[in-house]
Amino acid sequence: MYDQRYIDDVSSLVLNPEECVGCGLCVEVCPHRVFELSDKKAKIVDFNACIECGACVNNCPTQAIEVTPGVG
Ligand code: SF4
Ligand code: SF4
Repeated sequence: MYDQRYIDDVSSLVLNPEECVGCGLCVEVCPHRVFELSDKKAKIVDFNACIECGACVNNCPTQAIEVTPGVG
């Protein structure tokens, strides 16, 4: 868990697991540790820590992640 929090349940973050190839880039680039890899798939483990920065979306090779910055 990250100690700087945002408002709960408002992030526009969406992960489409069927598109995920398990590269782990989202885990690496997310500054708030929102993702973990589990069975070679990304999993959202801390949804409310997402600040909609877009780093995961920009690095995902398969467009498995969507976020609309500024919504939440
Ligand atoms: S938008 Fe930023 S904070 Fe949210 S999950 Fe992606 S990398 Fe993490
Ligand atoms: S960056 Fe995309 S493909 Fe790679 S683990 Fe994350 S969601 Fe899956």
